Amino acid sequence: MSGVFAVSRIIHIRARHIFLVFTASVLALSFVLARGNYALSASGNVALPDNGGRVILIDPGHGGFDGGAVGVNGTIEKDVNLSISLKLRDILTDAGFTVVMTRDTDCALNDSEDTTIRRRKISDMRNRLNLTKLYPDSVLVSVHQNKLTESSRVRGAQIFYSPNQPDSKVLAGYIQDEFNGCIQPDKPRETVKTGKNLYLFYHAQNVAVLCECGFLSNPDEEALLCTEAYQYKVAYCIFRGIMKWNEGLSD
Ligand SMILES: [Zn+2]
Repeated sequence: MSGVFAVSRIIHIRARHIFLVFTASVLALSFVLARGNYALSASGNVALPDNGGRVILIDPGHGGFDGGAVGVNGTIEKDVNLSISLKLRDILTDAGFTVVMTRDTDCALNDSEDTTIRRRKISDMRNRLNLTKLYPDSVLVSVHQNKLTESSRVRGAQIFYSPNQPDSKVLAGYIQDEFNGCIQPDKPRETVKTGKNLYLFYHAQNVAVLCECGFLSNPDEEALLCTEAYQYKVAYCIFRGIMKWNEGLSD
């Protein structure tokens, strides 16, 4: 009996080993493919990717005094936004993009003299808008999480786009396609144009998209959004969408 047990245990361990190697290989392959712009130099070394130095302005929504939405189990939106944004920053930087962050810590961008919450929110938004003006050729990518008080079942990522540049809709479409294919093939969503209520996107003249990565009002999705693995998945969806859009521009 112990011999049979030992053999089955070895088979089990080998199967697990093969599975882990296979999973790692698939991840590594998709990583290389996603970073697309690599080329072999004459010496045979892998040349650094060149994405034309395009500036991506990553905007982790909320921060500091402004926590954003609160999940059913207490997750604070600003924290998830920042975690995903930092991962996206690293991936984009590795792929040769120039990245500017509106914030890379838990802070707001409001003017220090503002005393009321309302005034702080207004100057916070105005200062984010000022950054889009400081980098007029940059692509604004805001990262947020959604919340719906009426239902805890609604889930999924949805990408919004600013009405001011036709390319915003194109970029949003690429990112939405990535989410629909990788995360929500059973329930694909469509992109939505932002309205007057979203100050930053109404006024920004850059190519600008807002990624609502998931619903904190759905307990399952809230739990997923708090894991490192899922945050990487979300960041890669956004990254792949940006890559495909950027490649389309240079065709
Ligand atoms: Zn938000």
